Amino acid sequence: MSAERVLFVFVLIVAAGFFSLNVQRLVQYLRRGRDDHRLDHPARRLWNVLRIGIAQAKILRDPVAGPMHAGIFWGFLVLTAGTVELIVQGIVPGFTYARFLPRPVYLAYSASQDAFAALVLAAVAFAFFRRLVLHPRRLDGDKTHHGDAYFILGMIGGLMVTLLAMFAFDGAANPGALGPEKFVSRPLAALLAGVAPATAASVAHTSWWLHVLLVLFFLNYLPYSKHLHVVTSLFNVFFSNTSGPGQKGVMKAMDLEADVEQFGANDVAQLTWKNLLDGYSCTECGRCTAACPANITGKPLSPRKVVINTRQRLMESVGGLPLVQEHAATAVDERHLLDDYITEDELWACTSCRACVQECPVSIDQLEIINEMRRYLVLSESRFPEELQPAFESMERNGSPWAFSPADRGKWAEGLDIPTMAEAFAAGRRPQVLYWVGCMGSFDDRAKKTTVAFARILKACGIDFAILGQEESCHGDPARRMGNEYLYQMLARNAIETLDRYQVRTIVTACPHCFHQLGNEFPQLGGMYEVIHHSTFIERLLEEGRVPLQTEEGQALTVAYHDSCYLGRYNDVYDAPRETIRRALPIAKLVEPERSRDRGLCCGAGGGRMWMEERTGKRINAERTEELLATGADTIAVACPFCMTMMADSVKSREADARVVDIAEVVADRLAPG
Ligand code: SF4
Ligand code: SF4
Repeated sequence: MSAERVLFVFVLIVAAGFFSLNVQRLVQYLRRGRDDHRLDHPARRLWNVLRIGIAQAKILRDPVAGPMHAGIFWGFLVLTAGTVELIVQGIVPGFTYARFLPRPVYLAYSASQDAFAALVLAAVAFAFFRRLVLHPRRLDGDKTHHGDAYFILGMIGGLMVTLLAMFAFDGAANPGALGPEKFVSRPLAALLAGVAPATAASVAHTSWWLHVLLVLFFLNYLPYSKHLHVVTSLFNVFFSNTSGPGQKGVMKAMDLEADVEQFGANDVAQLTWKNLLDGYSCTECGRCTAACPANITGKPLSPRKVVINTRQRLMESVGGLPLVQEHAATAVDERHLLDDYITEDELWACTSCRACVQECPVSIDQLEIINEMRRYLVLSESRFPEELQPAFESMERNGSPWAFSPADRGKWAEGLDIPTMAEAFAAGRRPQVLYWVGCMGSFDDRAKKTTVAFARILKACGIDFAILGQEESCHGDPARRMGNEYLYQMLARNAIETLDRYQVRTIVTACPHCFHQLGNEFPQLGGMYEVIHHSTFIERLLEEGRVPLQTEEGQALTVAYHDSCYLGRYNDVYDAPRETIRRALPIAKLVEPERSRDRGLCCGAGGGRMWMEERTGKRINAERTEELLATGADTIAVACPFCMTMMADSVKSREADARVVDIAEVVADRLAPG
């Protein structure tokens, strides 16, 4: 074996050994997190890897940065095959895939190396231009690592330059060796025709050394860099539940009987290993923060910072990876993720809208970390905004977050000839459908109009339904989102007991929060029902021609529909409300705000924010209302009583010439008399 080969094998073993040592350390650090079962639904997980990871479906949602990142990623995949060939050449001189690949396949492979080297080089040049000249706002803030990004881009560019130089000088040293498939390096080799063959061969050989050394250095630099995501992101997508399996947005089940010292998380050891892997996988792209309604309106919350800080805290708590971290682990032992890295104010600013989760190209679940820390604040330390105390007390005493008498819950139905389940059962009937009205729909004056409108539609269509009346009680979703899992489980179990007593199978509701909670989260506690949101239910009735509408076409309104987060991003219901409007108002013009469907901006009421003062920055509902009114709409349509309150308040405070209506009201207004 030549001395050069011995040297290469030595370098390769040292580089591979150091990399695998750091991988072992990183895996060990993940083990500090709690257990979390993430191997169910393997086919679905693999599909996510193909769609989100390999096809870059989420990255490509950004029309500018998307193709650039996707180009670099796909280039890496294709060029990895060439890297393996080059490394084997260091051990077995003259090795080439041409020895065992069929010629057409080898030519395609050979062409791909040229094509992707040029593509990645162009993408890197654009990335530099974008960062240095265009300065996208979302790449700034949260102590993001700009220097690291430039260093990595420089290295990727260096890899491509050395690869193309190797091909081109090799071609110059061996005229005729490069076939037409080398459509980039062949013309480059032609430009080098004047270089002496021996010199060209020597430069080609040096380029090979530089290239493989850069590859090995790059690999070992990754664990110290934010670009660790290059290694972890595909695993992260595989283990993620943010795009299914596991329904989207369903909060983690919590065993309150468990023998644990504390509930929720105030440090990385109480988060799951998947939450910690999220930290490794963050690209710091800022898509989450740019979509966060709290951040947009000047609140202290940045979901990117939540993830960056989780990783930073983990690395500091273990002393980091040797060679970079100088702090001993003990130096930061007194610190915690909560308070020292992420503040209470940040956590309580979250509306649980899931925009961050939706936007993340590597399927990170920022909201799960926030929810776990809220649970710790409430359950372990009783630390929460003072406005939440009356809501908690009222849910416990009155079965509603507001201090209304439970006896008044069914008052909206007086005189409407709507039976309660108790009355129906007493008369020997078993209604097919339960109309779950919800706390807003039962007590809030504006929301009650929607409640009545939907009930009118159900009656006009001859649906066999009943309500629970006084027996309905809050299902506890607000308590759960605010971190009070004890209260949630108490309320949810009571509600399930009531529903099961009446053998309820099908539930309709006009509230997306009730829809999500009853349909998606009650199964954790044994409540299994078919739950249909009123938008879907009405749309089906319209489609079946069962809604007796007036024959005139109605008004030529301009309607902007506002997507509710718990209906849209949580449950993918986007078309039903729009279709309902189209069918009920055939000559109305349906317009879309700048942010709509899965990019819709939250109204600001979710995550318990409905019960908290908005003291910092611009009001979220004002931001959203401005966007909706900018469409020129005279009507804002909603499909959620919380959105109704937020939008109506904002429209009223700005004295805008627009009205806010629920889609049920749109249809009820068009019901034929009789
Ligand atoms: S869930 Fe919404 S409000 Fe909360 S951090 Fe994510 S984007 Fe921001
Ligand atoms: S959490 Fe996801 S969206 Fe947010 S900065 Fe990291 S990679 Fe980007």
